[in-house]
Amino acid sequence: MRVGDEGDGSKPRVLIVGGGIAGIEALLALEDLAADRVQVTMVAPEPDLVYKPLIVEEPFKLQPAERHALEPAVSELGGQFVLAAAKGVRPDMHSVSIVEGGEGRYGSELEYDLLVVCVGGRARAAYENAVTFRFRSVGDPLEVDDLLSRAGAHESNALAFVVPPGVTWALPLYELALMTRRRAEERGQHDLRISLITPEEEPLTLFGSQASEAVAALLRARGIEFTGGSTVRETDDGALHVTPGDRPIDAGAVAALPVIDGPRLQGLPCDEDGFIPIDEHARIQGVEDAYAAGDGTTFPIKQGGIGTQQADAAAEHIAARLGAEIEPQPFHPVLRGQLITGAESLSMRHDVTGGHGEGTTSPDYLWWPPHKVSGRYLAPWLAGTTPHTEPEPPPHSIDVEVELPTEWHREPMALDRMTPIDDDE
Ligand SMILES: Cc1cc2nc3c(=O)[nH]c(=O)nc-3n(C[C@H](O)[C@H](O)[C@H](O)COP(=O)(O)OP(=O)(O)OC[C@H]3O[C@@H](n4cnc5c(N)ncnc54)[C@H](O)[C@@H]3O)c2cc1C
Repeated sequence: MRVGDEGDGSKPRVLIVGGGIAGIEALLALEDLAADRVQVTMVAPEPDLVYKPLIVEEPFKLQPAERHALEPAVSELGGQFVLAAAKGVRPDMHSVSIVEGGEGRYGSELEYDLLVVCVGGRARAAYENAVTFRFRSVGDPLEVDDLLSRAGAHESNALAFVVPPGVTWALPLYELALMTRRRAEERGQHDLRISLITPEEEPLTLFGSQASEAVAALLRARGIEFTGGSTVRETDDGALHVTPGDRPIDAGAVAALPVIDGPRLQGLPCDEDGFIPIDEHARIQGVEDAYAAGDGTTFPIKQGGIGTQQADAAAEHIAARLGAEIEPQPFHPVLRGQLITGAESLSMRHDVTGGHGEGTTSPDYLWWPPHKVSGRYLAPWLAGTTPHTEPEPPPHSIDVEVELPTEWHREPMALDRMTPIDDDE
């Protein structure tokens, strides 16, 4: 049977697996593009959408990141929510086996006509002898005050933040380092050495050279030492060594990001790291009627905005297949990132396919609504407004009061201002 030819008047069943950033974007996009053509079910093992980008603030604010209940959100959009984990896919049967009611209590099958897999990645600690920043359920929670006390008590009086090899989305570590500096100042640890060690040649290389220079200036202004082009490995005796140079990290405490592995969902193809291969319309390669979006796919940058763009590509393709008047656009990755520091924030935009210049960096908004994840549907949904076709800021300027390090005011490229800065001021 071809999807859309049910013949009994029922609508094709779209099953979205996962209720994270990509899953919600897919749901919202389908509601906008094909609401009257599909019946949507979402299945996820947790009752809430956790807005992961704000997890970085948890250790500093001592309160959980923003979350949204999935069941009412899905119902409001005319769909059905099932609280369960998918255990595997049977593409030949067009069904997904699920385990409902918590750990392994009982299992059943959910049938679909079209499948959208948005199960995210699996975070894993890269080092035993570092505190792994918890991307939920991995490692111990990051206790900032404990890190600072340990660093201060050590003869080095130093704290190191490490991006492990293979991690492509390093921005949260920069946020942690910057917010930790602020916390150290509050505690009176003015002389504490803080370093950031990363395989990236320049800070946040993914966003282009303008962003790198702006972030480098910010790190300098905050006294955070940047060691780029370096990887950290753990030796057999548990020491953490930096390459090149093979020298041990001289610090009283080390904090690291986790590594993201693929979901390895049974029945679906995956690469050697468990990620699901997709094409430019987010179709799972070699599997009929199945799409995937987000951190669980083979696209190398594991970032929420990218996940929403994949989800939009999938929803457009599905809507077009079901007869909606839309030309489905292939996935075209544009990175939009907002660096939060505990004081000012910095917005960055870069077309990662190249050929569109060096990217844009500004302390002002670069997209609208200015949520951390710039999903076409997700950001307006979170802000309670209607979606824009392109997440661009409104045409009128907005006055935003930001506290910037003095050094920035000497570096016009970091500010992207309309008015030239008078050096004699
Ligand atoms: C600290 C931090 C800061 C970040 N900052 C930013 C930022 O500033 N900007 C940005 O764009 N991105 C940011 N990211 C990245 C962004 O959060 C992820 O890229 C994004 O969450 C990926 O979306 P996803 O839907 O693929 O996965 P997730 O958001 O992880 O959602 C996965 C969903 O699948 C569900 N699931 C898992 N297994 C199953 C299963 N077997 N069956 C059914 N459901 C399942 C989960 O319960 C969850 O609902 C940050 C991430 C972190 C951790």
